[in-house]
Amino acid sequence: MTQLSPAIYDKENIFAKILRKEIPCDYILETEHSVVFQDISPKAKVHVLLIPKGSYIDSYDFYKNATDVEIIDFQKTFVKIVENKELYENGFRLIANSGYYGGQEVPHFHIHVLGKQKLSAPF
Ligand code: 5GP
Repeated sequence: MTQLSPAIYDKENIFAKILRKEIPCDYILETEHSVVFQDISPKAKVHVLLIPKGSYIDSYDFYKNATDVEIIDFQKTFVKIVENKELYENGFRLIANSGYYGGQEVPHFHIHVLGKQKLSAPF
């Protein structure tokens, strides 16, 4: 079977470089296990990225292999984004592209959080 998604974490991916502070980004918040920053090419008035600090390729890798502490930290950080950006009242969208078929460009697990405007239908 052809392996189209990476099986090994690429330490040189752009989010790994952001975590190592080798390249800049607009940080929003940081916790013990997670980081939130602005997407460089926003697709909505609010478009932020939430990533774990650990080296996980995609959603499956993260939820299969991360510790409970990392997963809880990630989910609680998501709540902080919704509250800090005041997204709850009018709604928002979460996206976690995973792997080749999912259209994931950066092979470090992340979720997009988009809001503050009406988004077009995703499908
Ligand atoms: P994916 O397609 O992997 O789900 O999304 C990757 C996201 O990362 C894209 O929305 C893209 O705009 C964003 N991105 C790519 N390179 C950079 C970067 O260097 N800095 C930041 N802040 N975002 C980036």
